[in-house]
Amino acid sequence: MKLTDIKGIGPKTGALFAKLHIETAEDLISYYPVHYDEYLPPVPAGDAVVGGRCAVEGRIARGVFRKVSGSKTIITTEIDDLTGKLHLIWYNAPYVGSLLKKGSVFIFRGTVTRRRNELYMEHPEIFTLHAYDEKIKTLSPVYGLTKGLTNNAVVKAVKGAFALVGAVPEYLPESVLEKYDLMGEEVASYKIHFPADKEEFIKARRRIAFDELFLFILAMRTLKARQGEDANAFPMKLTWDTEELIGSLPFALTHAQERTWQEIEADLSGSSRMSRLIQGDVGSGKTILAFLAMQMCASNGYQSALMAPTEVLARQHYEKLCALVEEHHIEGLHPVLLTGSLSASAKKKALALIADGSANAVIGTHALIEERVSYKALALVITDEQHRFGVCQREALSDKGGSPHMMVMSATPIPRTLGIVWYGDLAVSVIDELPGNRLPIRNCVVGPSYMPAALRFIKKEAEAGHQAYVICPMIESSDGVDAENVFDAAKKIRKELPGLTVGILHGRMKPAEKDAVMEAFRTGETTILVSTTVVEVGVDVPNATVMLVINAERFGLAQLHQLRGRVGRGSAQSYCIFMAGLESETVTKRMEILNRSNDGFEIAEKDFELRGPGDLLGIRQSGDAVFRLADPAFDRELMEKAGKLAAAVVGDSPSLEGENLNRVRQRLDRFMQESMRTITL
Ligand code: ADP
Ligand code: MG
Repeated sequence: MKLTDIKGIGPKTGALFAKLHIETAEDLISYYPVHYDEYLPPVPAGDAVVGGRCAVEGRIARGVFRKVSGSKTIITTEIDDLTGKLHLIWYNAPYVGSLLKKGSVFIFRGTVTRRRNELYMEHPEIFTLHAYDEKIKTLSPVYGLTKGLTNNAVVKAVKGAFALVGAVPEYLPESVLEKYDLMGEEVASYKIHFPADKEEFIKARRRIAFDELFLFILAMRTLKARQGEDANAFPMKLTWDTEELIGSLPFALTHAQERTWQEIEADLSGSSRMSRLIQGDVGSGKTILAFLAMQMCASNGYQSALMAPTEVLARQHYEKLCALVEEHHIEGLHPVLLTGSLSASAKKKALALIADGSANAVIGTHALIEERVSYKALALVITDEQHRFGVCQREALSDKGGSPHMMVMSATPIPRTLGIVWYGDLAVSVIDELPGNRLPIRNCVVGPSYMPAALRFIKKEAEAGHQAYVICPMIESSDGVDAENVFDAAKKIRKELPGLTVGILHGRMKPAEKDAVMEAFRTGETTILVSTTVVEVGVDVPNATVMLVINAERFGLAQLHQLRGRVGRGSAQSYCIFMAGLESETVTKRMEILNRSNDGFEIAEKDFELRGPGDLLGIRQSGDAVFRLADPAFDRELMEKAGKLAAAVVGDSPSLEGENLNRVRQRLDRFMQESMRTITL
């Protein structure tokens, strides 16, 4: 159903939603909140947590004061009891003055800040004890917004969408829901937007996360069953060209890289089709292995394709490979780039080169699998950091040319016990060694008051010729979310560091704009890149030596580790500053883990131990495109169950039959279509 069929949505609002990639009522129903505003039980003034939104109960201690300053009327008062003192401030809110009286008790809800060691709350909401009691423990959804669209407008639109098309119909039989303790989909699809309380949220999220995992695993198994025969359709000979390429590199391969390369060579020249996962922590040097494999294909007269999850990453790989080819005068390796943002004529040219085989190393995004692309002799498909957004894409690509070899490169530490559910029967190579020229990254964990010092530090590094990333959790400001956004941060930095050039990058920019920004950062034209987590995966600018993460408490530890992996890629000393906006014990504990360890596996384990379901209320931890709610690192129990159900559906004696099986199949088809049109981050 069209968005404008919803009551109250005209073309103008429709256009705003389109900016968020919401085109239909169904899109809106699956536009999940990024966060929930929670009405927690009130605390006394002394227990207010700096940086967080909280409700403080207290008696107006002294008077209520009014001051006029310029065009502003400022009202101040304070609550003060045995536990501590809290200053309250309102601007241009005359009604507040008549509401508050000395001696009366209220609940004030807002964000607490610390100034000169005193606690402040600006513009708190005011509740009587009774009014707050009614609100307590309720959650209200907070959506990702764009300029001109308020949170309230989204809430209304979502409700309108449900009224128009109804809840998402159930596709699993009652017996399955009972067995796996799942909420019905009709209820869950609504309650994920409007949960009555935390328990209900956790149940709704659990159900939706289960679906995401189940359908993903089922898709993998189904596709695999369809694929069948595993003989090596593209047998290759070992070649000196790859040895020469290795010899011409400015560095020696690590032992782990060498071992993995031998495994890849053995696969490609062996008797069965290669299906290998290359797992290695950020910065372990996976890319060069892809290039070597591509060279081996080319030398054997075949084509290969390397698919990246983002345009930024695809272009980076392409430029690196071109540089390698040029510098070392490599003959016979002809790279070509194919992404969605190429101009029509460039795309046409690329397609022609791919079709007649004159381009034999194809690098791109999911544009590689579009129907129009036809390959002459595609023998190898490599996906980089990609398993998470689309085994379906991967399989579609392998459909393009008989049964090409498959190589998957990933830094995501999937626990061993779950590997089999996740990767099926992939062979695994582990790169468990970092290149020797690296200095360990220096980490520090600080509060928001450290900002000026952090900027001074960035300036110093910039003067030494280096560059810096500044990461924020949000693109634009959003009501009810106390988290820094890219635009505000960039504005502040430009003001504080007027001599330095600042670039802005986020997922909602057009691909061509993203490319231009990344290009400017890569060439050093911009010194500071203010970005969301779009740079999380794979970006390699070795000259960047500072990573500043604002509101670090909003990210999962594994994600922070990935972000940190953007620096420390060259031989210069690099620094990572985790700036936590919340003074709380759990936050400190989590940050300490990062501070102490640089090992992705260890961090993922600790993260899992520390996180509880309640943490999921916050901004989504994984920036994943297929899984919007599920988090493979966290939802282990759910993943095992999903794996079991998937096995029961496709196994030798399937437990679902007839109508039940049909419904699952239909849902699976829809899921595969949806993942095929996954937006590139
Ligand atoms: P990742 O495993 O995260 O994909 P990359 O392949 O991007 O890592 O490599 C990170 C950086 O390390 C690149 O700049 C690459 O050129 C460099 N590199 C790769 N292998 C080695 C090595 N053996 N010695 C030194 N530097 C290396
Ligand atoms: Mg990489």
